[in-house]
Amino acid sequence: MVKRNPWERFLSLLYPERCCCCGKTVVCGRVVCTDCRFRLKRILPPLCPCCGCAKKDCRCGRHRRHTDRCVAPFYHEGAARSALHRLKFEGKAYAAEMFCLSMAQTVQREFGEVVFDRIVPVPLSRAVFKKRSYNQSLVLAKGLASLLKVDCRELLVKEYETMPQRELPAYRRSGNVLGVFSVPSDKFIHKDCTILLVDDTITTGATIDECAKMLKIYGAKAVYAVTATASRLSEI
Ligand SMILES: [Zn+2]
Ligand SMILES: [Zn+2]
Repeated sequence: MVKRNPWERFLSLLYPERCCCCGKTVVCGRVVCTDCRFRLKRILPPLCPCCGCAKKDCRCGRHRRHTDRCVAPFYHEGAARSALHRLKFEGKAYAAEMFCLSMAQTVQREFGEVVFDRIVPVPLSRAVFKKRSYNQSLVLAKGLASLLKVDCRELLVKEYETMPQRELPAYRRSGNVLGVFSVPSDKFIHKDCTILLVDDTITTGATIDECAKMLKIYGAKAVYAVTATASRLSEI
């Protein structure tokens, strides 16, 4: 249950709040309805540092990555998968709230000792941004930034469009995103900067890894990553 201020409670009388996962109306501040709450597959520690899955579910082989660690609150299954679909493809920005709250909790639990200088979203290419009109990772990053009180900056750009990662087999995904991200010359990453990279979902980690690599090439000292959901690799 999220505490709402009087103005938000008043607004909820005019525009009832909806469940992030299924869209059913819920009481003010509930965020997720009872049915969907039971259909959320939470990822519980201890976690694999590479793929964000629980160690018992990890199939990633712990390849060395450019990210220092990756975490996610939910598996890409059940109600979390529906909520992400609503956020990403149906333009329902309110569906981000459940993820932002859970991502913030996961970051505090897993990275409690880390001081972040910047929160950075994974960018979309200009063509996809135009089509979709917003970047779901930026929506998540902004929500997370206000909960964690860390500055959010769009430091990365995606130079050109690639095949959607979900349409490719796992072994082709690193190659698909190789060299597509860059840091524009007017964006400055100060030396020793610790970054929290935000994306909607992680599967093989190829996109996040490529982004982390570029941020480190441009000066970041450490790059941690948090995503709304993580896929179990055996399901690809
Ligand atoms: Zn629901
Ligand atoms: Zn793993």
